Amino acid sequence: MAGIYIHIPFCRQKCYYCDFYKTVNVTQTDSFIAALKKEAALRKAYIAKEKVKTIYFGGGTPSVLTGSQLSFIMKFLNYYFSVTPDAEITFEANPDDLTKEYLHVLKNEGINRLSIGIQSFQDEFLKKMNRRHNAEHAIESIENAASAGFSNLSADLIYGLPGLTQQQWKMSLQQMFSLPVEHLSAYHLTYHEGTPFYTWLKKGTLKELAENESVNQFNLLLDETAKAGFEQYEISNFAQNGMYSKHNSAYWTGEKYLGLGPSAHSFNGVSRRWNIAHVDGYLRGVENESGWFEEEQLSEKDKFNEYILTRIRTKWGISVREISERFGNEIGKQVKTIAGKFLQSGKMIENSGIYTLTRDGLFVSDDLMTDFMII
Ligand code: SF4
Repeated sequence: MAGIYIHIPFCRQKCYYCDFYKTVNVTQTDSFIAALKKEAALRKAYIAKEKVKTIYFGGGTPSVLTGSQLSFIMKFLNYYFSVTPDAEITFEANPDDLTKEYLHVLKNEGINRLSIGIQSFQDEFLKKMNRRHNAEHAIESIENAASAGFSNLSADLIYGLPGLTQQQWKMSLQQMFSLPVEHLSAYHLTYHEGTPFYTWLKKGTLKELAENESVNQFNLLLDETAKAGFEQYEISNFAQNGMYSKHNSAYWTGEKYLGLGPSAHSFNGVSRRWNIAHVDGYLRGVENESGWFEEEQLSEKDKFNEYILTRIRTKWGISVREISERFGNEIGKQVKTIAGKFLQSGKMIENSGIYTLTRDGLFVSDDLMTDFMII
């Protein structure tokens, strides 16, 4: 079983908080897609024996693709890989791109899960972030997607924004739960170096939300999602009726995946590869069949740290038995001792040898991870 991630590195404009690799030069899409096809052909052996159960179009903004461009990509993916008929095929989209016509195209091309970048239901914050849509577009896009027959809809929201009040955050969450979404990804704002938000924070023209406000907003998120019947299955991800993102869950449980496109990562259990985060460099590298990615072989220590990093954030937790089997009894014992400390302080709970974070633990998950990891 494997997944394929495709990075579409184009955006119509840049959001002020975003550090994903993207360019606003959308004139390169055709040459990019030709390179993507070539990369798929060059790398098909990476997951040749595997059934592809998930495909994820991320970015950037996949919804800058035209219907015929998407159709072409789907054709070569099906040609080079063994995509199962029931594969989860997720497509990230911006609300302003989701016209009724475009939704129809996506449906026809086999997209069966949409991840819509809503971020906020308040115009004031959408403007602050330099998003292209407004609150009305956000609502309409979800309603139209549901009417077009999408029954697996995910939406992204951002909290911890400068000036966001508890009341406003509550309104955004309640608005979300009044709409037909099955999945929510909610992220606290991060000030990434190189973004306008980061620059303004350093200059003092933008004021970070106080820490206690951030904690309150996270608490509100957990309370409101639970009230609305959404299960938290990863720190930032919530689903109704078990409709987890299969693609992301596969990352967190260590499945193989192949990443295509600039800045995309690949993982096969023994090594990790990452493509160059630059469209021109990517086009040149793929054309010359060299130099468009870097690769590292994972040591046992890397594999263990990877296990902790990905599993501790999820409802599947860390299993002492699995750790002992994969990394040896000594490491298993060490993990049990450290986890014991967190059981006592109420940051973790244990069920049949599986340790998961409590709400108190979620707040300090980064510190907890560091304690488990082998330096
Ligand atoms: S948040 Fe999405 S739309 Fe905005 S710049 Fe980043 S990738 Fe592009």
